[in-house]
Amino acid sequence: MEVHHIMLRLQAPLPEQYTTTTTIELNARIRAAKEALGDRVFILGHHYQRDEVMKWADARGDSFRLSVLAQEHPEADYIVFCGVHFMAESAEILTADHQQVILPDLNAGCSMADMADLDEVEQAWEELAAVIDIQRLVPITYMNSSAALKAFVGDHGGAVCTSTNARAVLEWALGRGDKVLFFPDQHLGRNTAMAMGYTPEDMRIWNPRLDLGGLSEADAKEATFLLWKGHCSVHQRFTPAHVEAFRAEHPDGIVVVHPECSNEVASVADQVGSTDYIIKAVEAAPPGAVIGVGTEIHLVQRLAEETPDKTVVSLDPLVCPCSTMFRIDAPHLCWVLENLVEGNVVNQITVPPAVQEGARTALQRMLDIT
Ligand code: SF4
Repeated sequence: MEVHHIMLRLQAPLPEQYTTTTTIELNARIRAAKEALGDRVFILGHHYQRDEVMKWADARGDSFRLSVLAQEHPEADYIVFCGVHFMAESAEILTADHQQVILPDLNAGCSMADMADLDEVEQAWEELAAVIDIQRLVPITYMNSSAALKAFVGDHGGAVCTSTNARAVLEWALGRGDKVLFFPDQHLGRNTAMAMGYTPEDMRIWNPRLDLGGLSEADAKEATFLLWKGHCSVHQRFTPAHVEAFRAEHPDGIVVVHPECSNEVASVADQVGSTDYIIKAVEAAPPGAVIGVGTEIHLVQRLAEETPDKTVVSLDPLVCPCSTMFRIDAPHLCWVLENLVEGNVVNQITVPPAVQEGARTALQRMLDIT
């Protein structure tokens, strides 16, 4: 929680003209600013964004895909990333020097990414080096992590993974060493390792608040996977009871969940996969199918609206949106675009060159593996 208090101070309140205006007026102003900027601006919309923002996106996707798209549009000097902080950092790492990446609200962080910071990971590495052969430990970070952690991984022989390629990256890691330190999402690590045929005995949770992660030396030596004690609060909310209730109501329904859900949920789902996988699973379902989805509510609602011949519902009827993704709204988008028209780059996200280099190495390894 502390991290959020620090982050709350990052974004100054918007000028009143953005917060008191009508939706119609805001839309007209966003349209005008976007037209004035033309190809110089490229707006990226993550799948979990609100509709009021998503309708202005030039591209929709998950974080890695959007960063690659930004790289493929060098004519755009300004990349407005409607997503969260680590995504804007990834876009900054992959884009050319003349491209500036903008996050419409600096308070849009990711609570999961904040669960592992560089100091904690360096400390973990040091403590582990005292009890195991550190050369045989491969660090893997999920895309949902700061640029500093990606650089750590790049500098220590590891790689980044996404929820789509986690299995291939973990297989690569275990071909290169005996053990994996996986951060920040324990659930993606566990679900992927279980799908590879490993059992809970092969895994240990690394709690960064405890000495040696709360493990005995024997545990640290025995484990194949050291899973960082981090999670996504949006996906961790889903429970097996939600799946049971859905199945009771829709006996022929299909359950598709994101691998950031707990293994208790993933193991009773019909399909488990990334946001792109979920979108394709809904597309592939036969007309009339009822699909219960375990992921962020904006994506589920959008899929429901855009797939009228199927019934798409959230597995959790009370699900909350990702509160940090939710921060990006039409007033913030309008504010950054109008500033760009005036020649002011507000909320630029930068990454120091040395960090960019290490992070690029880790991302490149991922691309080479997959
Ligand atoms: S949905 Fe979870 S992992 Fe994604 S940005 Fe929100 S908190 Fe982070």
